Amino acid sequence: MTTSIAPATPTRVPLTEHPCFDEAARARAARVHLPVAPRCNVQCNYCNRRFDCVAESRPGVSSTLLTPEQAADYVDMVRRDIPALAVVGIAGPGDPFANVDKTLRTLRLVKQRHPDLLLCVSSNGLGVPAHLDDIAELGISHVTITMSTVDPEVGGRIYRWVRDGRGKVYRGREAGELLLARQIESIRGLKDRGITVKVNTVLVPGITLDGVADVARLASELGVDTMNEIALYPVEGTPFGELDAPTAHEVARARSEAAEFVQQMTHCQRCRADAVGLLGDDNDDEAITRLFAART
Ligand code: SF4
Ligand code: SF4
Repeated sequence: MTTSIAPATPTRVPLTEHPCFDEAARARAARVHLPVAPRCNVQCNYCNRRFDCVAESRPGVSSTLLTPEQAADYVDMVRRDIPALAVVGIAGPGDPFANVDKTLRTLRLVKQRHPDLLLCVSSNGLGVPAHLDDIAELGISHVTITMSTVDPEVGGRIYRWVRDGRGKVYRGREAGELLLARQIESIRGLKDRGITVKVNTVLVPGITLDGVADVARLASELGVDTMNEIALYPVEGTPFGELDAPTAHEVARARSEAAEFVQQMTHCQRCRADAVGLLGDDNDDEAITRLFAART
């Protein structure tokens, strides 16, 4: 008599876990970022999306771009290879809502094929208010809004320009005012719809560092769930490329001031726009091969 042995089924993580919003989940829940959103409606003085290098790990960097259909096929492959996959996110390399048709189509396709995975987007907030109902209807459960200041004058120093939906370009204080107003509208609308919201704040010495507690106070008033301070990564060739990154002490002080108001995320890995796997895992050769295979 032969004994049949059932094939091993891969262990899947509980699909309510998001490794960025819940530190306890980071060792067991994987995420994949789909690089379907190349354009941006804002130009931050620290960002250079043209730079593309698989050795570099930071937002705005991706080895390639995918169409929505390619991205959905890519999720199929990732899910086959990484049973711990729990979250599918779009975080660039530009802004998801400056590429809103691609973003929504991608997430619709992923939801049809994998209705149990969490969906997540990360945005500067400018284009979010016009799509709050789309976000809710798609079941996007986690949204990150990058809000680095509540002072429009400071915003005018961070953003070289801000371009609204009708193509009008804003600069200086006007740019800071518009983006802040949209960020507030975004967070209110997301919280009204029961969505989990994280605020990312970029710590720029001499520019945003001293205003972190004000951002945290506003985030708390708006009901934000968690806040993540990200140290400036000075990128050569950008207006902030010559600035110093904040010291570990400055980052710790900013987090401690913000913690008075909002729960802090302290395990952010500054992931690439095509990051895949557990937080902290670099994209290896296998990940790059899979990404390019999705394009064929
Ligand atoms: Fe870069 Fe994001 Fe700023 Fe756009 S909003 S310029 S993608 S950092
Ligand atoms: Fe999470 Fe930070 Fe990576 Fe975004 S950049 S996926 S918040 S760890």
